[in-house]
Amino acid sequence: MGILIGGVSEEVEGLVTCSWIDSPGPGPTGLRLTTEDREERSAESWVHAIVLHTTRGIPGGLDQRRQRILSGVPPTAEHVRSVLDGWASDHCCASAHFVIDFDGSVACVADPLTETTYHAGHRAINHHSIGIEMYQGESAELYEVQLESTVRLVDFLTRRFGIQRQFHWPYQNQALARILDGGSSVVGVYGHREASDDRGEGDPGDAIFEALRRAGYERFNFAQGEDLAVWRARQEELNQRLGVGITTDGVPGQQTVLALREADRPHGLWVSRPGD
Ligand SMILES: [Zn+2]
Repeated sequence: MGILIGGVSEEVEGLVTCSWIDSPGPGPTGLRLTTEDREERSAESWVHAIVLHTTRGIPGGLDQRRQRILSGVPPTAEHVRSVLDGWASDHCCASAHFVIDFDGSVACVADPLTETTYHAGHRAINHHSIGIEMYQGESAELYEVQLESTVRLVDFLTRRFGIQRQFHWPYQNQALARILDGGSSVVGVYGHREASDDRGEGDPGDAIFEALRRAGYERFNFAQGEDLAVWRARQEELNQRLGVGITTDGVPGQQTVLALREADRPHGLWVSRPGD
């Protein structure tokens, strides 16, 4: 049991995970995306964003009910296969790499390193991002344990892929031009709502970003380029301190990650988390 990265199973500490190796599919019993819902990721793709979703996207569109974040013991019924069946029967391509069920268990249905999934509705974004879907119930509900699992999974993926722990804040009821342009300068975590004019506040809602804030993730107004200004200064400081030549473009890419490692930040990330 584990998630598959580059075809190799990896355990994520503190999480219950499984993949299609444990339950071969596709089909009613499998945990695998159909071939129509995934494609090979180009070897040159720099994976630098994690896009968060809820399966129902409430509140959004005509359904403006508020999200309910429930504590306590979630129902044990498993929903991942129904999500996969929905994607498989959908005429348009829809999918993600991970589905997080009510109980916080994580199903890996595509390989985040070698496969692109169709979660952001924008080809360029899909090619450089990882999609995570949180299962949302018919009453617009999510469970606290689900949010906790999502944070742990994002902790793991940011560490594994060298993606800085930062997200866009505040939500401004519209997609961000920098992301709609393809998102090449946006590193970190954002919601589907920031990447599309067709999605509303509830894809994925504010609660997951509050959870990331409590976990110490940095908040920047991506629309105003706050992240770029802060990282430009950090890159200049690294260049002076280490005598390296990072491009000071404010986009923390692989050069910046390597320099941060040299500067004794584990895994090259500015923000550290348990498990690093
Ligand atoms: Zn979405």
